[in-house]
Amino acid sequence: MAVFIDIGNTLWNFGAPLYVKLYSKGYNILPSRLWDCYFTKGFVPDDEFYNAINEVHEEQNNYKPYAYVKEFLKNLKDMGYTIIATSNKSHELYFSTYKWLEKNNIIFDDLILSDDKRKLFNKNTEFVVDDSPIVLEHALKLGIPATGLLFNWNKYLMDKITLHKTLKHCSQFIKTNFAPKNWRLPTRESENSYLINTR
Ligand SMILES: [Mg+2]
Repeated sequence: MAVFIDIGNTLWNFGAPLYVKLYSKGYNILPSRLWDCYFTKGFVPDDEFYNAINEVHEEQNNYKPYAYVKEFLKNLKDMGYTIIATSNKSHELYFSTYKWLEKNNIIFDDLILSDDKRKLFNKNTEFVVDDSPIVLEHALKLGIPATGLLFNWNKYLMDKITLHKTLKHCSQFIKTNFAPKNWRLPTRESENSYLINTR
C-alpha cells in the first residue's frame, strides 16, 4: 500500500526561499502566495528559474518542515501505508535530502528523486499527496486519489480535487476518505489494553 508524498510545498515551505532567491537575482516577481502556474513566464528565463530551484534545493538543510509533518506521516504509518517521499530534483541531492528527512525526524520508507514524478505512479499507488497541478491532474487521469495543500497555483483544481489549507486538515481528510477498510482510529481503551497485554 504505497503512498507518494511530495516534499517541496508539501512537507516544507519551498515557495518562500524560492521567492527570496529569485528576488536576490534581480527578478522583481510576485510573492509566492500569489503565484500561478505561469508566474515566471516573461519575467525569468527558464534556465535561470531552474538554477534558482536547484540552489534552493541545495540549501534545504537550512529550512524546517511544516509544523504538523511528523503527525501527518505518523498517521499514514498508523494506517499501514508505505510512505514514499518524492521530489522532482537532481539525483545529486539524494543524500542531502535523505539527511534532511532524517534530521527532522520525518517518517518515511523510501525516497525517490525523479525528473518527473508522474512516471512513478502505478497500479499499486494508493494515493498521492502533492501541490503540483501537473502531478495532481495526472493522478486524477490515472484514477489514483490525490490531495495536498492548497495554493494559488493549484486552486483551479478545487472542483475536482480536495485541497487543504493545512496538513492537519489534509490528514483528517485522508483518515476519512483513504483509510484502509478494516482500519479504525485507535481508542484510549484499545491503547490501554495493548499496554496491559504487552507488559
Ligand atoms: Mg511540491
